[in-house]
Amino acid sequence: MIGSPNAANAFFPHRHLLGIEALSAAEIERLLDLADSYANLPKDDERARKLLRGRTVMNLFFETSTRTSTSFELAAKRLGADVIAMSVGTSSIKKGETLLDTAMTLNAMKPDVMVVRHNESGAVNLLSQKVDGSVINAGDGRHEHPTQALLDALTIRRRLGKLNGLLVAICGDILHSRVARSNIQLLTKMGAWVRVIAPLTLLPSNIDRMGVEVFTDMKKGLKDVDIVMMLRLQLERMQGAYVPSTREYFRFYGLDYAKLALAKPDALIMHPGPMNRGVEIDSEVADDINRSVIREQVEMGVAVRMACLDALTRNLTGNQ
Ligand code: ASP
Repeated sequence: MIGSPNAANAFFPHRHLLGIEALSAAEIERLLDLADSYANLPKDDERARKLLRGRTVMNLFFETSTRTSTSFELAAKRLGADVIAMSVGTSSIKKGETLLDTAMTLNAMKPDVMVVRHNESGAVNLLSQKVDGSVINAGDGRHEHPTQALLDALTIRRRLGKLNGLLVAICGDILHSRVARSNIQLLTKMGAWVRVIAPLTLLPSNIDRMGVEVFTDMKKGLKDVDIVMMLRLQLERMQGAYVPSTREYFRFYGLDYAKLALAKPDALIMHPGPMNRGVEIDSEVADDINRSVIREQVEMGVAVRMACLDALTRNLTGNQ
């Protein structure tokens, strides 16, 4: 019998991790502390390997992914879980049915945790209402990508020792970005100040309601920031032209050393990947070992996902 989720667990009183929106600052802090301890463990730590022994984690990716799916797979394996990784192509017709049919079939195999990515906002939430175990949102449309925001926060916290009071600029395709949405929620909950910088065409109309400062000029928006977080142009979510050309876009919104000079002298550069070099970020800036923490973000991803799997499975009761 698999465990039935028990939301009374004090450490993380949620059955699913669907977004940052539902989490309190204290819960985020606890997840980050746990992830931090995983980041310090050797990758073959024996105690960690026993934590999810007998548990089954299913990765269900309806949208392509390289780093997120690999990172979840590795995290689950480092905790000793049985992992099934499935990449499910989205059918152009009856997407909703495909999603639920597939989920119900897999649910019958009794996974303890399903890690789900889908190109439609809200799809992961819908699925979570139909299955028996816990669900982690690995990115749904332009809605949320909670583990990305957590790994970004862990990377910042390990570098700068805090989140509270930092000035963070999130730049680029805010409109289509679930990374932006999750990061804005997390950073503002943790006391950081967030600026978004984008052309008007790539800003959601209600963005000012998210508690951020809005800029359309990189030169003004980057002034004195502690963190510069660049985003990819989400061409796959665009119908029609949102920017005149990628060359023009780079000129005004691509991060190069000239624009970076406006930020604090030791400002960190972040990018969730995959990067479009020469479109939103200059290649040299991306690889600058003194400023860019892009590789560390990937490294922290595994620790954060171990923490999320650990926290959620503590809520499972019953025999394994
Ligand atoms: N990997 C991130 C996501 O899945 C960012 C991106 O694709 O641009 O949202």
